[in-house]
Amino acid sequence: MAEIVFQSVTRNFAATTAVDGVSFTVPAGAFFALVGPSGCGKTTVLRLIAGLERPDAGTIALGGRAVAGAGRFVEPAQRDLGMVFQSYALWPHMTVAGNIAFGLGLRGLSKAEQRARTHEALTLVGLEGHADRRPHELSGGQRQRVALARSLAMRPALILLDEPLANLDAHLRQAMLAEFRRIHRQAGTTFVFVTHDQNEAMALAGLVAVMDRGRMQQIAPPQELFSRPASAMVARFVGQGRTVPVEVLGADGARLRVRLMGRDLAVPGSAPAGPGWLCLRARDLTLELAPGQPRLAGRVADLRFEGGDYMLSVDLEGAGADLIEVRSAAPVEPGAEVTLALSGGWVLPREALAPMALQ
Ligand code: ATP
Repeated sequence: MAEIVFQSVTRNFAATTAVDGVSFTVPAGAFFALVGPSGCGKTTVLRLIAGLERPDAGTIALGGRAVAGAGRFVEPAQRDLGMVFQSYALWPHMTVAGNIAFGLGLRGLSKAEQRARTHEALTLVGLEGHADRRPHELSGGQRQRVALARSLAMRPALILLDEPLANLDAHLRQAMLAEFRRIHRQAGTTFVFVTHDQNEAMALAGLVAVMDRGRMQQIAPPQELFSRPASAMVARFVGQGRTVPVEVLGADGARLRVRLMGRDLAVPGSAPAGPGWLCLRARDLTLELAPGQPRLAGRVADLRFEGGDYMLSVDLEGAGADLIEVRSAAPVEPGAEVTLALSGGWVLPREALAPMALQ
């Protein structure tokens, strides 16, 4: 198991700063996911960990050992890590067992040790009975597990996974999420996972980093990213949160008092008095009006069927806001006026919107 420490790491490509002064620590044994919109720098962070890129500034340490920066550079092969790529990169002419044992042979392990480790790794990924098959005789999900078994057999301190589920269909991907969680628990190795799918990251990882334009927006457990986003970009990217400008009036016990569309509301948040943003998700709003809940008036702009119920996009007219999403059991036609009850939300300072890159 290896702890990962980045300190003020920057990586430039010509005019592009792919990674911009990034600092973070991932504890040993963590399941760590890097997410963010296309081009935000997550693959470059993974490649910096692997040693496939060198930082232009800053330092990187793995398992307490400085591996890059300050005049030092440890080659990828000497970093005690395994990589699993989207393409799996299996040898087509070798059996499953041959693919796994190949790297072990290069390391000089005895035939008996190679057999024992291959068996152990195949058992861990649930493919004991497939040792003699060739890659073309396996499904996509099975090939994926062989690629993972090949890394696990080397017993590295750290396994890097670059969009490993991208080539699988939606059904198989769901099944593999559960498999990855189990394998990570049993192997006890640090896993670093890159994905552009925030749902995948939230479902898998114990620690998620959200990147935007080369910078870390927030690193936190999924539950915290969802309920206490540090910026509007995180709120939007992680939970499809929409933002509404509000005036923060002050604290009211554990909540903030905010003014929105002429109404005073009490909402959780971390903003000082003054202009702010209220992040709202569909689950924070209902069309059924419970007595005593704050209400907002709006007009339905669009509706879509979401298997079971409808998602309405509602324009809070005059609020200068995004369209707000709310679920409805019955269809409501565009143009209809609706009243929404507010039961949640999260208030952010006004500056928190500045780094927004989405839509
Ligand atoms: P994606 O999800 O699309 O794979 P990403 O978040 O993984 O994106 P990176 O691949 O890390 O992003 O790229 C970050 C930025 O650096 C992008 O603007 C990209 O075009 C640029 N970049 C990455 N690698 C190189 C390279 N070898 N040469 C030039 N520019 C590069």
